[in-house]
Amino acid sequence: MKLYNILVDGQVHLALGTERGLVDVSAAGCTLSMEDLLAGADRAPLEALAAQALPVVEEPVYANIVTRTGKLLCVGLNYRAHAANTGFPIPEYPVLFSKFADALVPAGAAVELPPWEVSYDYEAELVIVMGKTAWNVSEEEAMACIFGYTCGNDLSCRDPQMRSGQWLIGKTMPGFGPCGPCIVTADAFDPFTDHAVKSFVNGEPRQNGTTTDMIFDCAKIVSYASRYVKLEPGDLIFTGTPSGVALEGGQSRFSWLKPGDTVDIEIDGIGTLRNVMR
Ligand code: MN
Repeated sequence: MKLYNILVDGQVHLALGTERGLVDVSAAGCTLSMEDLLAGADRAPLEALAAQALPVVEEPVYANIVTRTGKLLCVGLNYRAHAANTGFPIPEYPVLFSKFADALVPAGAAVELPPWEVSYDYEAELVIVMGKTAWNVSEEEAMACIFGYTCGNDLSCRDPQMRSGQWLIGKTMPGFGPCGPCIVTADAFDPFTDHAVKSFVNGEPRQNGTTTDMIFDCAKIVSYASRYVKLEPGDLIFTGTPSGVALEGGQSRFSWLKPGDTVDIEIDGIGTLRNVMR
């Protein structure tokens, strides 16, 4: 099931992806919210609504996939070629860092690249949406704690990121964690099979990896992180990026992002997350 939050007259509506397009189930009388679903509400009423001939929303305005943002956790260096090309050793344990809540913005949001820095970069990533509290869970238990998956762009500013061993200031500027456009529920997305993870800047291909190339898979990430971070429903985990970011190969390979650039993050089975830089 593909679940969307969209803005209608200033209100967040729950919408559903169907074969015909996106349908607004809130407008059709459904009182469920994404938070209700994250809390375990029955999805059966949605399936019944999806079967009806509801009008398709032609030009949806997306809202954040979760309206009450919790933790934004990220895994660094989780694809071998990316780690090697950026000059880092292959990690023995997941490299975990975080973004603050105001980094989260939806598909379609314009992201400001502050003019006092230059080294802006994109990172296409599969993002885990937590559905159950996870505190010291095993790899076997971890998958049952995942609500679904979305596309993420771990926007980065390399100079401040690399200025010290702490990456935070290069990762958490406002809007630097776009996610969306939808959540694909865990029953409809298997991260252990190949799903292409791609990025495009102004339509030009930049990254082209696959979920099975992760060094630490989703079960390992959730299990490991849950020993140190109490993961709650709605928390988001960026799972790392494949090779092809501007940082790799120095500044000559791909140019840094600049205002006016359109960045698309595309994951097979989920969709396309598009944001314009300004
Ligand atoms: Mn990343």
